Amino acid sequence: MRAAVLTAPETVELTTVPDPVPDVGEVLVRMRAVGLCGSDLGVWSGARAVPEMPWIMGHEGGGEVVAVGVGVDPGRVGEQVVIEPNYPCLECEACASGTTSVCPRRGILGMNMPGLLAELVAVPEQFVHSVTGVAASTEALAVIEPTAVARAATAVSEVPSGADVLVTGAGSQGLLVIQLLVAAGAKPWVMELDIGRRALARELGAVGVEDASAPAKFSHVIDAVGTSGLWQVMLPKVAAPVTVTVIGMSEDPLPLTTKQITRGRMTLRGTIIYDHPHDFEQAVAAVGSGEIDPQAILTEATPFSEAGEAFASASSARGKTWIRFD
Ligand SMILES: [Zn+2]
Ligand SMILES: [Zn+2]
Repeated sequence: MRAAVLTAPETVELTTVPDPVPDVGEVLVRMRAVGLCGSDLGVWSGARAVPEMPWIMGHEGGGEVVAVGVGVDPGRVGEQVVIEPNYPCLECEACASGTTSVCPRRGILGMNMPGLLAELVAVPEQFVHSVTGVAASTEALAVIEPTAVARAATAVSEVPSGADVLVTGAGSQGLLVIQLLVAAGAKPWVMELDIGRRALARELGAVGVEDASAPAKFSHVIDAVGTSGLWQVMLPKVAAPVTVTVIGMSEDPLPLTTKQITRGRMTLRGTIIYDHPHDFEQAVAAVGSGEIDPQAILTEATPFSEAGEAFASASSARGKTWIRFD
């Protein structure tokens, strides 16, 4: 089979590798779509180290079950599935308490385990979720995983219906958060420098924070950027009390004092991926019910044979970059 592999920083090539064979408890998936996000770009640029090169990238996607290993119902062959690419150990204290997102032994496809940008992928059956209807469209397969991330963040933000919310960044996470907030009856205001991305956020129901009608201060913020530069611009716009939910991440120290936290009555809520399996199942439902419209946030598909080019253009793309297998 063919796989898209990172051979050096900023170099992704198609190569031929042996077909994977599903192990006990695994299914073999013929991939149909893979989305790219900032985490993939971190691997591509060399900022996020991977165990070896060449390295199969990608963690957001799905396809069709074409074979099963021992112990898996052969009736699953032919199922359309989306892959949950984080494998918690399901045994540690964090996993036992239900917060599998902080499992210290978490396997992550495309990061510390080979990824999804291959024609065939073997996956433990408990980490493939059956999809039907609109959730089984090729476009949907590229957005369900990042929807699970955005949905977990909007859930912990506890933004009340009708509330004004400042959303920083209109990359794929920001756009998904905006769609979810609109569906929940909240009012998102977007802070985004790129004109094209800002226009796309507007199409999804957000208003630019620079608009004359924007509130001067916000009691709810969802940060989908996570850099200190962004916080410098965002902090003067928060009211007291304020709840800031953080999805974006970087290693920059924040320009934030304890005085700003105390006097600002600031509640900080960090969120990372999603908890297995319910958060993922809810993302499948959110896409299936139309709460998320994959077409509205995706760019034109890049064919698998041109996967390398998709990485090069993803960071400046208007909308979410994705790869289609034909
Ligand atoms: Zn991702
Ligand atoms: Zn664990």
